[in-house]
Amino acid sequence: NGFVTMGLAPELVQACTDLGYTQPTAVQKNVIPKAFLGEGEKRFADLMVSSQTGSGKTAAFLLPVLHTLLAQRAAVEAQERAEFEQATAEALANGEAAPKRPKRKDPTNPRNFKAPTPGALIVCPTRELAQQVANDAIDLVRHCRGLRVANVVGGMPYQLQIAKLQNADLVVATPGRLLDLQRSQQLKLDKVQFLVVDEADRMLDLGFSDDLADINDLTSQRGQTMMFSATFAPRIQQLAMRVMHDGGKHVQ
Ligand code: AMP
Repeated sequence: NGFVTMGLAPELVQACTDLGYTQPTAVQKNVIPKAFLGEGEKRFADLMVSSQTGSGKTAAFLLPVLHTLLAQRAAVEAQERAEFEQATAEALANGEAAPKRPKRKDPTNPRNFKAPTPGALIVCPTRELAQQVANDAIDLVRHCRGLRVANVVGGMPYQLQIAKLQNADLVVATPGRLLDLQRSQQLKLDKVQFLVVDEADRMLDLGFSDDLADINDLTSQRGQTMMFSATFAPRIQQLAMRVMHDGGKHVQ
């Protein structure tokens, strides 16, 4: 499988194989290696990608983002395990009872509600596109234990939406509903590290410029932004200048 040599986590390569993706498409070859933190690099690159529907652009942004989320989760789990093992060893050495693993709180109990803080946010111009991107993400995380994908779009009942958002790591959203949930504190965006703007040209056509400005401000501590667009009209370049360092590195 051609994805193996790109350095992606085996769980993601396996999902590609399951989906019949044996070779990366051109946009995937061009984007995926640049979207990673390479040897000696301290910062993720901001990318401005010219891409058409049907090019495989969705996996081009999902795979590197999911790879990093997965690596971060593994690091946190390893740290927790090491701390637990050390606490157990110390307790036994002191002749005390070994510590118990912390119990997971019942997420369906409203008293346990904590606004989700996703690490990655994909914004799409339409409900249909957001649905499709979320479905692709769900297909790609099938072997990634514990990584959760949620879809935030207008039209879905709020309570169902809020329930689905619990513990979400990656959120795929249309801007209106996303900002509604953020304003009503059902969702926090201050832990977003990766922001992807899909079909940026359609986003502007549909009048989402102010919403994008708000999303840009609400996720200002993020480490990476990727913008995908079929065209590079001046207004897209202006948006790129506003949301990315030096307008992002151009990728075909
Ligand atoms: P997109 O441009 O992201 O909408 O993708 C277009 C279609 O190509 C989707 O149906 C994907 O499932 C499929 N696809 C994406 N990447 C690959 C790949 N590397 N090999 C084969 N099919 C792919």
